[in-house]
Amino acid sequence: MEDIKAMDSDYIAHTYGRFNLLINKGKGSVVYDENNKEYIDLGSGIAVNSFGICDDEWKKAVIDQIDSVTHTSNLYYSSPQAKLAKLLCERTGMKKVFFANSGAEANECAIKVARKYSSDKYGEGRSSIITLVNSFHGRTITTLSATGQDVFHKHFGPFTGGFKYAHAGDAEELKSLVKDGDVCGIMIELVQGEGGVIPLDPAYVDEIVKICNDNDILLIVDEVQTGNGRTGKLYAFENYGIKPDIFSTAKGLAGGLPFGACVMGDKTEGVLAKGDHGSTFGGNPICAAGALSILSRIDDELLNGVTKRSEFIKKKLEAVDEVESVTGLGLMLGVSVKGAAAADVVNKAIEKGCIPLTAKTKVRLLPALNIPMDVLEKGLDRLIEAIKECAFKQ
Ligand SMILES: *Cc1c(COP(=O)(O)O)cnc(C)c1O
Repeated sequence: MEDIKAMDSDYIAHTYGRFNLLINKGKGSVVYDENNKEYIDLGSGIAVNSFGICDDEWKKAVIDQIDSVTHTSNLYYSSPQAKLAKLLCERTGMKKVFFANSGAEANECAIKVARKYSSDKYGEGRSSIITLVNSFHGRTITTLSATGQDVFHKHFGPFTGGFKYAHAGDAEELKSLVKDGDVCGIMIELVQGEGGVIPLDPAYVDEIVKICNDNDILLIVDEVQTGNGRTGKLYAFENYGIKPDIFSTAKGLAGGLPFGACVMGDKTEGVLAKGDHGSTFGGNPICAAGALSILSRIDDELLNGVTKRSEFIKKKLEAVDEVESVTGLGLMLGVSVKGAAAADVVNKAIEKGCIPLTAKTKVRLLPALNIPMDVLEKGLDRLIEAIKECAFKQ
């Protein structure tokens, strides 16, 4: 561990404040460090390992794909890509998919589609996109612009122009922002993830939909974190009974491989034409095969299990005196601990053998969708010990 830490510090850019942990191996939701100490994984690599680490079925799908074709480029047809796009569209009622490698790239595509839709139909001058204060949409220069947090708008300017920010919950502000007629899209996370696991109010979401419909503004839902079963539905927009014009997803889509998708609906399916967008790695067959394995197993039974686990976690944590509140949907939950910094709780939890995440001031839980109930309970017991030791210390 010490030699790895030294190498990391000497040779890797210091962009991450790492926790004192090196995961060496694991299976499902149980992982081990280099000393074989056991940890219950409540973060699944930031909502990426949808079925946990080294899931057998996923592994088989990925290895079978490696044994046939690992990469061909987008100059040629791809069987796993075509099958995955079909499945994504059939499961969501959407019409076309563009494959990318990450959440930020999927959002870049969504932004391009919104702007081109508008310029095709209305000409120049209608390129603005509204995002929400406290949102997170990625780390490229454009998705940093889209991210509605001032801390991300430093050092790297000039940033991409054409973004306006609205406060979640304030429909009147939205209406005034679209008045000038320069807005082509409104982009939202239905549960703000990095911003602190905060679900949008359904009445506000209905207002957004109405504003979009009234003004031919495209509704873009960033499902990078909320997607792929995370909130108890295949995509979070189903919880709200709405249908976006475009949604993006990534994180859990390929169950541990770098992958993203921008998914377009009735209004937007024809926007991107030959040459409008592209990616060397996007839709890579191995990642697509991994995603097919994940997506095809996110059925009603699994989703009901997500909701059941969510209720179990909420009930157990809300009964703890030191817990202020639990927010979120499905297995995307944020825990406020009374008088404790989230990072302190996580450090303590790691000591105790459980791995949660943070989101702003909250301890964030993003366990694997299929985490066994007994493993979950054991992990929560360890987390609660950590919560009790850290509360009221700040
Ligand atoms: C993580 C995240 C992104 C960025 O995804 P990357 O794969 O890191 O580029 C974008 N939007 C949301 C909502 C996210 O949670």
